[in-house]
Amino acid sequence: ASRSDAAGVLAVIEAIQARIEAEADDLGKLDAISGDGDHGIGMTTGTRAALAAARRAVEKGCGAGTVLTRAGDAWANEAGGTSGALWGLGLRCVGTAIGDSDSVAAAAVVQGIRDATDAIMRLGGADIGDKTMLDAMQPFANALAEQVEAGTCLREAWRHAAKHSEQAAAATAALKPRKGRAKNHSEKSVGHADPGAVSFAMIVASTATTLES
Ligand code: ADP
Ligand code: MG
Ligand code: MG
Repeated sequence: ASRSDAAGVLAVIEAIQARIEAEADDLGKLDAISGDGDHGIGMTTGTRAALAAARRAVEKGCGAGTVLTRAGDAWANEAGGTSGALWGLGLRCVGTAIGDSDSVAAAAVVQGIRDATDAIMRLGGADIGDKTMLDAMQPFANALAEQVEAGTCLREAWRHAAKHSEQAAAATAALKPRKGRAKNHSEKSVGHADPGAVSFAMIVASTATTLES
């Protein structure tokens, strides 16, 4: 890699933050259909906090895993809301899995995404099909693992998995919510995708463009 992996993680978080900022209004409108309408605000606050913490960590010379872990902690602490807690936990899982070694292995990234999916499932108590971010995340994790295990480079594997995730997020429109606030308005939600699934797919898509091959 031409830059340190910590700088690479920072570039990923910059891309995520910019994408969320650009989509925040639409995410809020989607959340307003069957939730409380704050998903765009929550994700903006969370990604801004994550980016600021990542910058501070890189300035201090922290390695990639620590940069990601600190970004996750800042996201969870400053964003509030369900998505903030779950995203903070997810970033922490990936940061722990990749560690601070000089070169991040694709297998470690795959493990981190798997750990994050499991941890989010445990903390939030949602199952696949409950119409949450997990319905975009699990297909992403599975596709990524499959591709990397087949020998595809991380960048290409990620791009492929991000496409799966986007389709899976769109497909949540057909589901009835069973977790989170949206479950109280399950009829209104049918025909509209889950905001957390949509933002998950946006985040992995914006990450794909930043990853080195
Ligand atoms: P809040 O629901 O606290 O207002 P947000 O609006 O930021 O938080 O996030 C809502 C999203 O969080 C939902 O669209 C869904 O994807 C996700 N979510 C809600 N509850 C859970 C859960 N128990 N497990 C996983 N994801 C969940
Ligand atoms: Mg909300
Ligand atoms: Mg809320």
